[in-house]
Amino acid sequence: MNGGKPTKIRFEYGDDEEEAIAATGSCSNLDNEDSSMSEPVADDDKTSADYYFDSYSHFGNLQEMLKDVVRTKTYQNVIYRNTFLFKDKIVLDVGAGTGILSLFCAKAGAKHVYAVECSQMADMAKEIVEANGYSNVITVLKGKIEELDLPVPQVDIIISEWMGYFLLYENMLNTVLYARDKWLVNNGIVLPDNASLYLTAIEDAEYKEDKIEFWNNVYGFDMSCIRKQSIMEPLVDTVDQNQIVTNCQLLKTMDISKMTSGDASFTAPFKLVAERDDYIHALVAYFDVAFTVCHKLTGFSTGPRSRNTHWKQTVLYLEEVLTVREGEFITGSMTVAQNKKNPRDVDITLKYSLNGQRCAVSRTQHYKMR
Ligand code: SAH
Repeated sequence: MNGGKPTKIRFEYGDDEEEAIAATGSCSNLDNEDSSMSEPVADDDKTSADYYFDSYSHFGNLQEMLKDVVRTKTYQNVIYRNTFLFKDKIVLDVGAGTGILSLFCAKAGAKHVYAVECSQMADMAKEIVEANGYSNVITVLKGKIEELDLPVPQVDIIISEWMGYFLLYENMLNTVLYARDKWLVNNGIVLPDNASLYLTAIEDAEYKEDKIEFWNNVYGFDMSCIRKQSIMEPLVDTVDQNQIVTNCQLLKTMDISKMTSGDASFTAPFKLVAERDDYIHALVAYFDVAFTVCHKLTGFSTGPRSRNTHWKQTVLYLEEVLTVREGEFITGSMTVAQNKKNPRDVDITLKYSLNGQRCAVSRTQHYKMR
């Protein structure tokens, strides 16, 4: 769909509003067409502290994700267009939120769906399942995957939307791998089963000035000690594709059906070749996910050349501006690791060097997603 895209994934979103289930003779007509407004129920028990520690209890976050049509529509298409995968199968929805993926699976003919959700949203998911007439197919279980027992010894399919910013932030992947190792039947499937991380380089003078260099002179005062901290925090934001100066390099592909949690920590080499004369202010990371067991390979990209998602891109600012000429290249490696103190944080180390006509730099920078 996007010329020059670095992946072979077939994009599946938004443009077509298809909601019908493909290739089923017996489409149940269970669309909830009742759009009547119901009274909002205030939950007086919750304080801002509850939401701080348990952000998924608040519907705002889940609404943002549901409204991300690239994300949600891809899952819907994966399920509705591949009903052969789901028919009469037992499904585990890891981190069900509102229960949306469980509802898709139930509608696609799953025999039973276990929807596990650890936040207070599990109570809503129960109500939603009931309101839509799926109580006999979907069982909502409130609790942490790691702490609860399933009523069945094994499941045929694990589905989850676990991806965080920079793919690995929040580290919910470990929860999916835990569920896979504990409950997935031999030859069972994990959806999605493939995730890839990419790196590219951008011109970003204006933003770097605004976000980072700002601290050098604040109303005449030197606050550059804060600059040091701010440059260490990757910025999650949308990047215009016109800012891209180099090729996009695949850093790492993960096979979610086979990998171990240790595989999410890695060092990957890269070579970014300048496609024009320009300045480089930052490297940008983004990811794709794919569902390779579909009848037709399906997935989505969160890259700057694709339609925006709520994941945006992750921008890693470089200490100094690199002046590159077309054809020159930045080589280096990126090391990604779970933070030892807080496993939900991600430590990133970037080693890079440029040996160009107008600029020679060799440096190591440390970043922390938190
Ligand atoms: N599946 C939903 C929600 C995805 S967000 C959707 O696609 O819209 C991820 C959800 O996983 C959050 O609601 C979060 O509370 C839940 N979650 C995270 N870690 C979990 C764990 N260890 N056990 C159970 N649920 C978890």
